[in-house]
Amino acid sequence: MDNITSIFKEKKLKLTPQRLAVYQYLMGTKEHPSAEAIYKALQPVYPTMSLATVYKALKTLVEVELVQEINVGEGNFRYDATVNDHAHIQCLKCGRVDDLEVDSFPNLNQIAAENSKYEIKWNKLFFYGVCEGCQ
Ligand SMILES: [Zn+2]
Ligand SMILES: [Zn+2]
Repeated sequence: MDNITSIFKEKKLKLTPQRLAVYQYLMGTKEHPSAEAIYKALQPVYPTMSLATVYKALKTLVEVELVQEINVGEGNFRYDATVNDHAHIQCLKCGRVDDLEVDSFPNLNQIAAENSKYEIKWNKLFFYGVCEGCQ
């Protein structure tokens, strides 16, 4: 928790219990939940917290780069407290999103650079498939 406390202090932002709750929830899951899923999960503990508050907390956490927003398509945003570059895989049947446990794709930027006139900075990788439970 030191991390979030010092980052919020540095940015002169108020670390509200709601923001902390959203962050802690994301730290404790690997499920890449949507805002609605976070809202539902926090309901029993924070019955007065609205979905709008969850959205606002997420927006702030993304701005300070403690959380990354993943757009898995069709405006379907998921949230992840693992902010280093990593690839994601989504199930086409149930919609679950998992981290793809592959170190990196080191040649990908190079391949992209060789096939364009761009100096590649980074990339975002998404894979789509059918998860074990849905097969
Ligand atoms: Zn599935
Ligand atoms: Zn992830």
